[in-house]
Amino acid sequence: MVQVSNLRTLVLNADMQPLSWAPLSVWSWQQALVAILQDRVTQLKAYEDVRVHSASRPFEVPAVVALKSYRKQRKVSFTRYHVFLRDEFTCQYCGKRFAAKDLTFDHVMPRSRAGGSRWDNIVTSCGPDNHRKGNRTPREAGMRLLRPPFEPTARQLDAAARRLPWVRGDLHQTWMDFLYWGSELDE
Ligand SMILES: [Zn+2]
Repeated sequence: MVQVSNLRTLVLNADMQPLSWAPLSVWSWQQALVAILQDRVTQLKAYEDVRVHSASRPFEVPAVVALKSYRKQRKVSFTRYHVFLRDEFTCQYCGKRFAAKDLTFDHVMPRSRAGGSRWDNIVTSCGPDNHRKGNRTPREAGMRLLRPPFEPTARQLDAAARRLPWVRGDLHQTWMDFLYWGSELDE
């Protein structure tokens, strides 16, 4: 038996893409139901064999909804998670992927030499490489960056999130058609 309280609703933008991938845009089904009743979203799919009852009538539990009016992409905030995501949890020096707990940041131009904490001066690094580089530039340390750091768009971060192997594990099966069908045809 499905635990109704655990069900969540995937929220798509009016263009049928998730509002965001990082994190994935999901609401509680109660929020989604309210939005349906207020005519703000369209229900695309309901959970099978699940009904909830109000005093007057049963309701389906929405699995996937889409906004009726398009919401513009937000600006990306400069956070630890977003830097790791931009770099796909990959050390920008050795090119190996790590869990977040084993990653740190590297100031490409060291802080001691007025290198700022900005999108274009911060890269994801493993501990050993960060330590090896120390207060030097990559050139001085004889190290090469995989790519120069940059400020990502929301769309670039979403694309990075979608490529991460562990993201798929968290997705409800009901959502998969809406998350991957269109995109895999494109690729
Ligand atoms: Zn490394």
